[in-house]
Amino acid sequence: MNILIAGAGIGGLTAALCLQKSGHQVQLLEQAPEFTEVGAGIQCGANALRVLDYLGLKAEIEAIAVDPLRADFREHKTGAVLHSLTFGQDYAQRHGAPYLHVHRADLHQILANAFNDRAASAVTFNTTVASYIEQGDKVTVQTEDGRQFEGDCLVAADGVKSVIRDQLLGHRAPVFTGNIAWRGVVPADRLPADFMEKTVSNFVGANKHMVIYYLRRQQLVNFVGVVESDHWAEASWSQKAPWQELKNDFAGWHPTVQAVIDAVDKDQCYRWALHNHNPFDHWSSARVTLLGDAAHATLPFMASGAAMAIEDGRILQRALDQVSNVEQGLKLYQRNRLARTAKIQTMSTQMGRLYHIKKPFLLRMAFKALDLLPGKKDQFLPDYDANTVTIK
Ligand SMILES: Cc1cc2nc3c(=O)[nH]c(=O)nc-3n(C[C@H](O)[C@H](O)[C@H](O)COP(=O)(O)OP(=O)(O)OC[C@H]3O[C@@H](n4cnc5c(N)ncnc54)[C@H](O)[C@@H]3O)c2cc1C
Repeated sequence: MNILIAGAGIGGLTAALCLQKSGHQVQLLEQAPEFTEVGAGIQCGANALRVLDYLGLKAEIEAIAVDPLRADFREHKTGAVLHSLTFGQDYAQRHGAPYLHVHRADLHQILANAFNDRAASAVTFNTTVASYIEQGDKVTVQTEDGRQFEGDCLVAADGVKSVIRDQLLGHRAPVFTGNIAWRGVVPADRLPADFMEKTVSNFVGANKHMVIYYLRRQQLVNFVGVVESDHWAEASWSQKAPWQELKNDFAGWHPTVQAVIDAVDKDQCYRWALHNHNPFDHWSSARVTLLGDAAHATLPFMASGAAMAIEDGRILQRALDQVSNVEQGLKLYQRNRLARTAKIQTMSTQMGRLYHIKKPFLLRMAFKALDLLPGKKDQFLPDYDANTVTIK
């Protein structure tokens, strides 16, 4: 088939590589003039790594990643560990693939290079998809500047603000969740050598949390700090905000948090409002489907949005391989992704509430309760194998 994909983010590129492997012609249409990924980290579990391994990219990714020893959930002032998840060798043995931290730009570049090496045609940049028309056994995409592209089906991987989703499902405005998020990246050599073990540190409590972890073979430290707020509406990931407000938001927090905030370039602090969609009950028509954040944008509290987009691409490929009719293939893909992605959307929202519990005693009790459910959360995420799971 000739398959059009709108959006060359992590989701669009992974889907393109998967579909190519089944012999489809893929045209990737991207609004940006070139690839410029947001400078931030992605936590990549075994479920995502298995798909990237299928695409032959695991070794390349491992070479630029960090494999953390653990995730520690820590009380925001004292740093006392409330709960830990083990990664490293133990995780890789349990789940058959490692848990890695990857710089978004690095992962995006590896996917883009693979696409450019393997595709008959390169990504078409400067191409903002505006709408589509489904007619007979074809779909035609129209761009903002009046060009048209025709294919056998259209995959909308155009992110959380998807225009194709608006046409397919009707406009559903994302809802402000009452959380704003700070992010930044700090060169590790600005921090003391013993500043943090090779872990994910998630400082939690008092209506806020901050996640800190290493990137790019421990050369960089990434942080995301989430704060409850009534007053913020800007949803762009690339909106800068005053460093002093970041400092004020985390005043009195643990010295590790202060060290990162003090070391970040003061003009390189980004802040955006976290918006959410409730899970959709469908996202495909006869020739058009959604993928990644366009289909199921999720809060970042389970660090799983990109991983879901990566899984989507592989399941879409397998669904289209399994049945010869395009509409049935798209429905098969949708049917096998709706429940899993909705579960992760819902759980991500719940995790945010857990991290922000205000009373220290209740916070400790809540994390103790997680200890009593050994492995539950731990397993349904990483043990999903998009390469082999039965789809029906
Ligand atoms: C702070 C934060 C931390 C996160 N951490 C993690 C993590 O640790 N692990 C994880 O798995 N996920 C994480 N995520 C989620 C993850 O980043 C997203 O889920 C993922 O990037 C979604 O990929 P996507 O390809 O669907 O969308 P996007 O990355 O948004 O890509 C969409 C692409 O479509 C293009 N586009 C948009 N509109 C059009 C149009 N009309 N025409 C053509 N092109 C268009 C855009 O330019 C872009 O290239 C995090 C997210 C945030 C905000």
